[in-house]
Amino acid sequence: MNADAPVVIIGAGPAGATAALALAEAGISSVLLDDNGDAGGQVWRTGAADQGPPLAYTDARGDELRRDLARHGDIIDHRTGHEVVGLFPDLRLWVLAGGETVTSLHPKAVIVATGALEVFAPVPGWTRPGVYGLGGLQALMKTSRAVPDGPVVLGGAGPLLRLVAAQLAALGAEISAVVDAAPWPSPGQVWRLASQPGLLAKGVAFEWGLLRRGIPIHRGSAIVEIAGDDEPDSVLVAPVDETWKPVEGPRRRLAARVVGLGYGVRSNVELTRLAGCEHVFSAPRGGWHATRDPNMETTVENLFLAGDGGGIGGVEVALAEGVIAASAVAQRLGRGDGLKTKAAKARRRLVDLTRFQDALAEWSGVRPGILAGCTEDTIVCRCEDVKRGEIAAAVAAGYTDIGPVKMNTRAGMGLCQGRTCTPAVQAIMASETGTPLAEVGLPTSRAPLRPVPLEALAQLPQDEAAE
Ligand SMILES: Cc1cc2nc3c(=O)[nH]c(=O)nc-3n(C[C@H](O)[C@H](O)[C@H](O)COP(=O)(O)OP(=O)(O)OC[C@H]3O[C@@H](n4cnc5c(N)ncnc54)[C@H](O)[C@@H]3O)c2cc1C
Repeated sequence: MNADAPVVIIGAGPAGATAALALAEAGISSVLLDDNGDAGGQVWRTGAADQGPPLAYTDARGDELRRDLARHGDIIDHRTGHEVVGLFPDLRLWVLAGGETVTSLHPKAVIVATGALEVFAPVPGWTRPGVYGLGGLQALMKTSRAVPDGPVVLGGAGPLLRLVAAQLAALGAEISAVVDAAPWPSPGQVWRLASQPGLLAKGVAFEWGLLRRGIPIHRGSAIVEIAGDDEPDSVLVAPVDETWKPVEGPRRRLAARVVGLGYGVRSNVELTRLAGCEHVFSAPRGGWHATRDPNMETTVENLFLAGDGGGIGGVEVALAEGVIAASAVAQRLGRGDGLKTKAAKARRRLVDLTRFQDALAEWSGVRPGILAGCTEDTIVCRCEDVKRGEIAAAVAAGYTDIGPVKMNTRAGMGLCQGRTCTPAVQAIMASETGTPLAEVGLPTSRAPLRPVPLEALAQLPQDEAAE
């Protein structure tokens, strides 16, 4: 690894890879780290399946990005299968390679571009084998073209719901229904979405992909139970109000062998929390994320943040922010002049995209009622088997901060370290205490973020290992 590169970029999705390429244009070398097997991030994820049938609704920009990175291999040290498990306020990083070795890096500047995580709303039966996150189903398609044996019911909200349904259907999956908590967008929302005709056209294409195959979309509805002996055999669907809380009204039971769930995405804040950045809650941007100045610099000096990790904006926003962050880093290193024009164009693009993003969040952004289907006995933290009732009991016992609730119940302390359950724990706490979600706060992050063999930690310099 080029330990002397002045810049380390974490995440080789659209934001991080674009930042690396822009820095290369300014003659600045970087180390680009990603835990995946190839660049592209979530949206342009690839795999062995590139020999298989084409995946519908994908664009060619992922392949272009990978070709560009390979062409700049002399100046971009792109490391796949490298996970950053520690990032500290002085910009030191711990990098886990191949799950076995941990190295320490100490660059002059860091760009965090770690993207988003999915938002789940636990309902009875959601821990059964055969229940997937929408992103998980999509990752299976992208990497191996695997399609589950139907009937498949997908539930949640947001663009990923329709995209995954349309992609599965195009690969021949038997999709029996899509259950969408959001209603039809209002005429005003459609008008604002039309400010980006290309993006709106993509959304319409997903919808059309379902309609022309006769796949029903149950709008203003949510899956409130997944039934079956072991694997699912059916789901119960209820109408929801404008907060997405299930209400009185006809319930329908739909046959389902496989269920996909997902209520949109939220910023992955693990590393920015660890580094001590200030965070803010913004519902239209998917909840908590680190604050940034217009140059994408966080409250920690020389620590920049681009893409969905800094608030949900989608791929176009991620591409623009990657350029802006790279330009700011280049200026900090005294080499920024060449990127100024490109950064100014990216800033204009960001302004153009705001209207679209706001309308999208207003239509399908996650609402507080989604946890109403989660009963006292529903498991919320699936790593540690913590039920909703146990979280409610901890709150009733006087633990109103998320840290003590986590320590008392072990919710979020398992293998995934709260990547899956944190939004649900926060929402349960908000509902039990009657406080707004924004006041519940975020759990503390600690290094190493993932389980690391002790042997690997021992390879760190003595003073760091002792820490
Ligand atoms: C599951 C899922 C599926 C999605 N699918 C689509 C889609 O099909 N179409 C679409 O338009 N949008 C999709 N999105 C939204 C998508 O996140 C954005 O549109 C876009 O990919 C954001 O780009 P980014 O560069 O900010 O982040 P990402 O593309 O998410 O890239 C971040 C990269 O950082 C890596 N990473 C994270 N943490 C670490 C770490 N600690 N160490 C090393 N590497 C790390 C990740 O593995 C990933 O490769 C999806 C989001 C999710 C969560």
